[in-house]
Amino acid sequence: MLSKFLQGLMFVNQFTIDNGQVDILGNKQLLLPVQIIELLNDKKAYDFIKQTVKIGMDEEIRKIGSTTPLQRFNNLKDLMNTFGIGNIDVTFIDSKKQKAMIQINNSTIANYYISQRKKTTVPVCVITKAVLAGAFSSFFGKDVDSEETKCMSLGENYCQFSIK
Ligand SMILES: [Zn+2]
Repeated sequence: MLSKFLQGLMFVNQFTIDNGQVDILGNKQLLLPVQIIELLNDKKAYDFIKQTVKIGMDEEIRKIGSTTPLQRFNNLKDLMNTFGIGNIDVTFIDSKKQKAMIQINNSTIANYYISQRKKTTVPVCVITKAVLAGAFSSFFGKDVDSEETKCMSLGENYCQFSIK
């Protein structure tokens, strides 16, 4: 079942699946197996994904018009659900100080590491961390970074991200 946001994008031709091509807001998309994240678990991947998402979220405003910060967050939530990253919730936000805390209760990436019984001593959700850093850099209009302060792969009940 497509979310309202994606149905809306489809209606204005900003989400298309045609001739082997998936396009969202003018960007080509690939659906890949979760195992790929083992190749994307470093600072270089973080920086690249953060920058790509920031540009994408800035473009969103240009292509679908201005919306409220809450609507933008809900659009991000929809997209992260659609891409299978997990269901995000804001537990704290201060737009003036450009800080936020985000929680994910069902991280696909952490669950993958747990299912593979891979031993880790550090949080593993680098892609999620990068997507949040890029999106909130766009939301706040200021470059911010994201740290994963709790991760299910380390035995916590949820993953938590501090953005500032
Ligand atoms: Zn995690």
